[in-house]
Amino acid sequence: MTNNKIIHILIIGSILVSLTACNLLTNSDDAALQINENNQEQVTDNEETETTPEPEEEVITLPTEELQKGDQSDEVKELQKALAQIGYPVELSGIYDSKTVWAVTDIQLQEELTVTGIYGQDMKLVLEKILAEEIKITVGKGLPYQADKVLDDDTVLLGNPYEALALVNKQHALPEDYIPSDLVIPDVRFPFVEDVPKKQMRKVAAEALEKLFADADAEGLDLFAQSGYRSYARQDVLFASYVSVNGEEEANNFSAKPGESEHQTGLSIDVTSPHVNYELVIEFGDTEEGKWLKKHAAKYGFIIRYPEGKEDITEYQYEPWHIRYVGVKAATEIMNRGITLEEYLAEILPEQTSQN
Ligand SMILES: [Zn+2]
Repeated sequence: MTNNKIIHILIIGSILVSLTACNLLTNSDDAALQINENNQEQVTDNEETETTPEPEEEVITLPTEELQKGDQSDEVKELQKALAQIGYPVELSGIYDSKTVWAVTDIQLQEELTVTGIYGQDMKLVLEKILAEEIKITVGKGLPYQADKVLDDDTVLLGNPYEALALVNKQHALPEDYIPSDLVIPDVRFPFVEDVPKKQMRKVAAEALEKLFADADAEGLDLFAQSGYRSYARQDVLFASYVSVNGEEEANNFSAKPGESEHQTGLSIDVTSPHVNYELVIEFGDTEEGKWLKKHAAKYGFIIRYPEGKEDITEYQYEPWHIRYVGVKAATEIMNRGITLEEYLAEILPEQTSQN
């Protein structure tokens, strides 16, 4: 018994020792690897230092590449340092969060830049001027800071309706008084001649749509724009009329309640073709125009907002005619991966979306 026990203990002991030894070995291997990596990084750093002298800690290096919501990098942190220096209450987290989007939007509105909440070259130039005190910005003058707000019926009211990645759906609504300040009529074909508000889009989307139409024309296609911007008041009237005919539940499957329509963003438009008699019908997806649109929309920053098979996420039927501007970067990822705006936003800023 005693001998057996001793043998047992010895065996267990040696197993433990060998396990520990293995672990130690692995740990030290890792450590060695880490040190090597660090050394390598240092060498690279040193090499870089030789060619370009390292800036002093207080100097802000404004990023040269485009940055947007959800991006995480040292460049984002540099942008946040600049915004903080101007007086914006942003965290220096290196994560392009909603507050960073707001600060960028606020400056874009005040300086009459393209308003998207996306940081680009034009923003870099303006920030340089602000930091050099050549121009002055008043924090919140373009867009006072407002966090997204949960309303009584669990709908989230958007604090920043201007950003290109604004999520508008049955849980996320635009403020009743939101009217985009940069609406224009895109120079594209409509199947009617009247100058009506629904011809309008926000400037950034209108310019992208013009390029899309020009390229579709060059391919011999026959795209027509049908319906762009729609005000809260107009959506209110429209939805009420659908409800009176179809009942609220059915009406909400193909039409949005006021505040929940993407058309109020000015970033969406319905397009069609003579092959479906200029109607907004699922068959449009099978026309040459519809197929081309699905394949190429992302190149111009647009997505098919309500794709086939994603009805449970978007909570709308398949609408091959409804396109939404989100910017080229997001559109390319969304269309290439066959996902929705909802899924994309949940991935890039999971915490914020779950808070919503
Ligand atoms: Zn639509």
